[in-house]
Amino acid sequence: MSDIMWSPWREKFVVNQHSSSEECIFDVLPKENKDSQNFILTRTVHAYAMLNIYPYNIGHTMIIPFRHTNNYLSITKDENQDIQLLTNKMIKILERIYKPSGFNIGINIGRIAGAGIPDHLHWHIVPRWEGDTGFMGTTSNTRVMPESLENTYKKITEALLNDR
Ligand SMILES: [Zn+2]
Repeated sequence: MSDIMWSPWREKFVVNQHSSSEECIFDVLPKENKDSQNFILTRTVHAYAMLNIYPYNIGHTMIIPFRHTNNYLSITKDENQDIQLLTNKMIKILERIYKPSGFNIGINIGRIAGAGIPDHLHWHIVPRWEGDTGFMGTTSNTRVMPESLENTYKKITEALLNDR
């Protein structure tokens, strides 16, 4: 039987790249203005969408508010609206490109719940296909992705451009 993906997603991030600073990676990356290198897909006023560099499936995207907070209840109406808008946009794009059979969409609040960056809230969008649980298993950290992140980034950003 297939696992419920909702259980801890054991997020992992490369923090070494930014080891010189204690600053939060979700604050640093959008400021670098190297969106393609950082796999940032698109931005709104209050939030941005970025590919997860440790994807659980092709197209695994995160929606991240620009404001640094770990307090879910502090998310404002405007932030919520942007997060929703980006989530809708990404679902539409991912459906168009990859035709998944389903999605897991959600948020891990706190390290105990599986958040890799517990200090900055971020929402996950994970496309799912029949039979993908083989490499989605929880016993291995290594996943063989049939598409490079660079290719995924290219496909999604092109689709976003055409979506305007
Ligand atoms: Zn932050």
